[in-house]
Amino acid sequence: MELKFHFFPAAFPDETLHSVLSRYARLCGGHSRKAAFAGDRAAISYTQNVAFPCRLDDLVRSLPPGTDLSVSKIISCHTVLPYYAPFLTDDQMQHARTSMSGDGKWLMLKLGVNASRIEGVSRIRFCPACLNEDVDRVGAAYWHRVHQLPGVLVCPHHGDALRMVDPSWYSRNSWQLHLPDDAEVQAHSHQVSAGLEAFPVLHQIALRSMQLLTLDLNPLSPVAVQACLLHRAAALGLTQSKSQRLDLGRLAEHMAGVFNALPAAWEYSVLAESPAHLPATWVTKLLRKPRHTHHPLKYVVLAIALEVDLVWLSRSATLSMPTVTRALPISAGYSRPKFSDDLLEGLEGLTAGVFKLALSGSEARQISAVLGVSQVFVYRTIRGVDGGSQAWREARFVSELHRRRTAFEVEYGCLQAHQCKDYMWLYRCDRAWLSGYIARHGGIHTSRADNTDTFAVLDEKLADQIRSCAQTLRVRAGKPVLISRTRIGRELQALSRFEKQLHKLPLCATALEQACESIEEFHARRLRWARAKLVNEQRSVNRSALYRTACIRP
Ligand SMILES: [Zn+2]
Repeated sequence: MELKFHFFPAAFPDETLHSVLSRYARLCGGHSRKAAFAGDRAAISYTQNVAFPCRLDDLVRSLPPGTDLSVSKIISCHTVLPYYAPFLTDDQMQHARTSMSGDGKWLMLKLGVNASRIEGVSRIRFCPACLNEDVDRVGAAYWHRVHQLPGVLVCPHHGDALRMVDPSWYSRNSWQLHLPDDAEVQAHSHQVSAGLEAFPVLHQIALRSMQLLTLDLNPLSPVAVQACLLHRAAALGLTQSKSQRLDLGRLAEHMAGVFNALPAAWEYSVLAESPAHLPATWVTKLLRKPRHTHHPLKYVVLAIALEVDLVWLSRSATLSMPTVTRALPISAGYSRPKFSDDLLEGLEGLTAGVFKLALSGSEARQISAVLGVSQVFVYRTIRGVDGGSQAWREARFVSELHRRRTAFEVEYGCLQAHQCKDYMWLYRCDRAWLSGYIARHGGIHTSRADNTDTFAVLDEKLADQIRSCAQTLRVRAGKPVLISRTRIGRELQALSRFEKQLHKLPLCATALEQACESIEEFHARRLRWARAKLVNEQRSVNRSALYRTACIRP
């Protein structure tokens, strides 16, 4: 049966979608997803408290007429996707929007967000002061988007430490829809503890993150952002004066200064990890090679460390990227088609205007926009002059060539030639220039630092933690839980390491193999526990009571 809402609460400013739906569930009389959403299958997807809820099309279709919520409004105002937008590509953003409307397929993979361990250590949070104000102002407590952004540990509005919900309690109750003023949430949350010295930086991070979330910025060119960050690093003396190459020692010291002020836990424990006397790998990656997607928090922290205004940076970066070039390239062996000056002679008024722009390589839509004429008029005018079409075609080619060469020159500073966007086009159409440029500038590419030692140290440390975590789980009071790779990974906040880097961590792989139990072993342990519990409660011990108590099927 398809779900239809008979009423729906109005969404509050900065409220997460999960929060609106939790308030709906509360108005239906509880926090059970099953009761409120009548077991609707799509509801599992859009009610979850995750960064990117999906099946939004299904949700919007179920809303009562007159509800002021479209898929696009939900995504922009009630999810955290806008926070990621400046650091994704147009394609990734397009895919994310389509995927969130639909079944969410490949969403995390395409966004590259699951590749970031930052998400894994992030927590559900709320601000007690905001909660009280919300109750006074709108009559209900709700989850704010900004408090859920990774690395936001203090409230951007109040500057107070947020409260953090205990992740193991939350994951045990993830099928329920809670609100921050629920007694259970209050009982299973604690205030973020951070030293006094951390507050100014944390507040700055919260404010910058909120700006990213609310300013609705477009995707940025990673190359342009990198250029701005590197420029600032040079101004702060963190590069070698002549070559502009990073001075890794000084950069490491500078970043250590920033992380010393921050708590050594949660997102910041991941970000602060670095090889001895070197900056963290992500820092050098952002300053050197802008490829792949990087988490916004990394940009926020680095921008603060280098005193760069991210919003200003995002605007100027958009503007300074080579987009459509109207000026005619003079250099580079290509000149204006020789008969173009003759063409211009004798033309007057609008026709001359059209030709001037056409011969500078402008497209029809640009010419029509500048002169306020229709595109049909542009085409007709150019065709009407002898040799006009050919001159225009050549001018546009030269203009494109110039644009692609410039973009390649910028990107080649940080990427391998074949990774640059315009490499294939230039290879096909402008091979002589391309080979010449690469031959002249090939020396700027350096090899990556070896990080084998870092993994060896980590391997040993993490393997110890795996063993003691498994031991703790085994002796923990109450109903036994399955000791699995996933469980240990979650407890140690190392799940994505286990998924991606286990081949580099042989000690951890062995420790996991020894520590994890099979389903049979787990069932046997649960049944032993159930027997002891029944005996202890002086109830009769039979087969069905044993399995029921153990919560397993015979
Ligand atoms: Zn607050």
